[in-house]
Amino acid sequence: MFDTPELAAFRAQVKQFVQQQLPTDLRATVRAGRQLSAAQYRAWHAILATQGWLVPHWPPRWGGQGWSVAQQMVFDEEMAAGDAPELNAITFNMIGPVLMRFGDAAQQEVFLPAIASGQQWWCQGYSEPGAGSDLAALTTKARQDGDHYVVNGSKIWTSGAQHADWIFCLARTDSSARPQDGISFLLIDMKSPGITVRPIVGIHGWSVFNEVFFDEVRVPVSMLVGQAHRGWPVAKSLLEFERLKLARVGENKRRMARACAAATSRHEAGVRVVDRPWFRRRYAELQTRLMALEANATHFVERGQAGETLGAEVSMLKLRGSRLIQLWEELIVDAIGLDALLLDPAALTLGPGNAQSGMADGDLTLTATASSRRFLARGYTIAGGSSEVQHNILAKQVLGL
Ligand SMILES: Cc1cc2nc3c(=O)[nH]c(=O)nc-3n(C[C@H](O)[C@H](O)[C@H](O)COP(=O)(O)OP(=O)(O)OC[C@H]3O[C@@H](n4cnc5c(N)ncnc54)[C@H](O)[C@@H]3O)c2cc1C
Repeated sequence: MFDTPELAAFRAQVKQFVQQQLPTDLRATVRAGRQLSAAQYRAWHAILATQGWLVPHWPPRWGGQGWSVAQQMVFDEEMAAGDAPELNAITFNMIGPVLMRFGDAAQQEVFLPAIASGQQWWCQGYSEPGAGSDLAALTTKARQDGDHYVVNGSKIWTSGAQHADWIFCLARTDSSARPQDGISFLLIDMKSPGITVRPIVGIHGWSVFNEVFFDEVRVPVSMLVGQAHRGWPVAKSLLEFERLKLARVGENKRRMARACAAATSRHEAGVRVVDRPWFRRRYAELQTRLMALEANATHFVERGQAGETLGAEVSMLKLRGSRLIQLWEELIVDAIGLDALLLDPAALTLGPGNAQSGMADGDLTLTATASSRRFLARGYTIAGGSSEVQHNILAKQVLGL
């Protein structure tokens, strides 16, 4: 991106902030490609909130900075370049904006300041064992009992539920209506009696998502967002915010830097991998795709900020951004070579300098976690609506096929 003098000054400010304020242990954890603990995330949220930068894309009325699109993109880039962790999109990019648009005054007053100050972590209770792409098939039920709903059912693939304070949840409140018309959007305190969270360990060795069970969970009616049985438009608008964020331009740049670092520190037949033709060709192709993604993302965010309702075409960003991350992770594994196959479970969770992993602090070769991160990236083309479904949306609603 071309920096104006003002933007260059802003970039320098963000760069300095990350250098000075990001705790050393967080930087080392992110740099080594490991998963952060909940305490590390919360510590970083608190630091960003003190600076007023936890939700800089929100309007000032709700604790944001009202930054321009260019500022947001510079911020994301510098955060990724400085080894800061990716922020929780579900909390800061989904439920926050949804409450601004659909929440009532009381919900906004209670939740938005809590999120903006880093005190609240949310998770998303949409998917169920029998309802993923076909979300309207969900069967978790909420029946009204006086001034409460009573929720029964289960959710699956709920990212971060083991750490979350609250969950926003789709539940069926009218079984007689058309599937989409009988769903309500509820805000539920994760400490409510009757909620059980069971972590799922993925092929990568990490527990990024969970099963969440609801057994007679009582939820005040005041926690209903929008109208009863009319949660579907609220749910869909949130997916629109999600897809915009899921272009993951900054995260793609983070992978590009890792690919370059891995290939620079490795040799193949006596030649640095970064100088091998196969690597250079793949790197250049991915870099070009990243430039195109960034141009498209800028365009969409500008339209959104100008007040336009983004249509189905926004699916393109999710499709491109998620696939590109996978290709970067594959390139990193190929650049590392056979060593990347050595999965060291201890290296996934222990801190930097872990003797078993054989890695020095901040080692950018990322050997011990490369395969895990590659498997983790497989989920990006499924989460938030699978690639096949995104292709269908683009074919039908944008191309009119
Ligand atoms: C990393 C990760 C994090 C996630 N986090 C959350 C979360 O926090 N909260 C949450 O609620 N959910 C979450 N999910 C779940 C995610 O939203 C669902 O996995 C997704 O909607 C797909 O649903 P499914 O897994 O039931 O697969 P299915 O819908 O059963 O799909 C199976 C396969 O069939 C294909 N398919 C389905 N329908 C069609 C169609 N009409 N045309 C062509 N192909 C089709 C799909 O593309 C896929 O390949 C997460 C998933 C992942 C991978």
